[in-house]
Formats: sequence, C-alpha cells, structure tokens
Amino acid sequence: MIDNKKMCEILGAMAEKVQEQKDFLTELDNEIGDGDHGINLARGFAAVKEKMPSFADKDVGAILKETGMTLVSTVGGASGPLYGTAFMKAGMACKGMAEIGGKEFLAAFSAAVAGIKQRGKSEEGEKTMLDALCPAERALTEALGGGADLKEALGKAVDAAEEGLVHTKDIIATKGRASYLGERSLGHQDPGATSSLLLLQVFEAAL
Ligand code: ADP
Ligand code: MG
Repeated sequence: MIDNKKMCEILGAMAEKVQEQKDFLTELDNEIGDGDHGINLARGFAAVKEKMPSFADKDVGAILKETGMTLVSTVGGASGPLYGTAFMKAGMACKGMAEIGGKEFLAAFSAAVAGIKQRGKSEEGEKTMLDALCPAERALTEALGGGADLKEALGKAVDAAEEGLVHTKDIIATKGRASYLGERSLGHQDPGATSSLLLLQVFEAAL
C-alpha cells in the first residue's frame, strides 16, 4: 500500500533521481531536441520538493494532483504539461484515498497515460514517453490481473518500459521537436521515454 508518507518518499526520490540524471537527459535531448529535458524536469521536481511540507496532511490523490499542477506551472517545454497532466489525472483517479494498492495504482496509471495521449494528441509508436509508458501499462495490467503484488507488477512494468525505450532508437519521431529531424531521429533514444523509465524505476525501488 502507498500512503501519504510513502507517496512523499517516492516524490522526494523522483526529485533526487531527476537531479542526478539531469545532464544525461539533457544530453539525449541535445541529440534530437533542444537540450533542455533534464533541466526542465529537474526544475519541476525541485519545485515539487519545495511544496512537500504542505503535503503532510493531504491524501494520496491530493498529493498527486498538487504535484501535477506544480509541474505544469514550473516546467517549460512539452514535458511539463504532459507529465503535469499525467500526475493530475492520476490524482483525480485516487481522489480522497488515504492509501492505494495495486488496483488503484493501475487505475491511476491508466488515467495518467490516457491524459498524456489526450494532451499530446499522441499515440504509442511516435517516439515519445508513451513508448515506455504504454508497454509499462500493459505489463502492469497483465501482472496485477495474474495476482502479482504491486512491487512485482512494477518490476514487470519497468522491464517493459526498458524494452520500449530501446525500441525508440529504431523508430522515427512523428511528435514533439524530434519530429523536425525526420529520419535523422533514428538511432537516438527518446529523452522523455528515458525519464519515464527512470520515474518508474524510482517507484519500484521505493516499494
Ligand atoms: P521540449 O520538447 O518542448 O523541449 P522536453 O525536452 O522537456 O520538452 O521534453 C521532450 C520529450 O517530451 C520528448 O522526448 C517526448 O518524449 C515528449 N513529448 C514531446 N511531445 C510529445 C507528445 N505530443 N506526446 C507525448 N510525448 C511528447
Ligand atoms: Mg527539449
């Protein structure tokens, strides 16, 4: 189960991870974008971390929603509104919940992915964060449906996201800045799919 304390711990660990991987993410974005993905996320999660004292008396849904709103308002670029929407939608799916387990997590994750698709007008296969997140969602659904606990299921989701990320090297970007490069985006892994994998890894490690 993920409660208020655990959720805050996870968000703190996400902020740390993003800060630690800032240069790597920025380097990836330099290759096929404008070189700000790491900077964008580090700024956003640092702002979330600053808000965390006010999360102490909030339920999981409210924490996620506030996180999303903070990301939207502090992160420039495409990834801010997209990750922000994802956290806000996840928060709405967990509205009023003091703690969440596997079933609720899956509903929140699915709402987040649907939110990204809607906001980004995007689908899997366009070399974006969705190419890590959609396989992860399928793996979560399958593992939880088969009776796995959340930690186990997240382990499968991480594996699936990793495969999806590797696959982004073999496809041409048709959404986001990288799409301006057309075929020249081949051979490069997508920065957003990379950060999505990192965030999932943090979640799994924290449970
Ligand atoms: P920007 O592209 O505005 O500089 P970032 O560099 O922070 O923003 O984020 C780039 C990442 O955002 C990409 O690697 C990709 O994964 C993701 N992205 C961009 N556009 C979309 C979209 N329409 N749908 C889903 N993800 C997208
Ligand atoms: Mg960028």
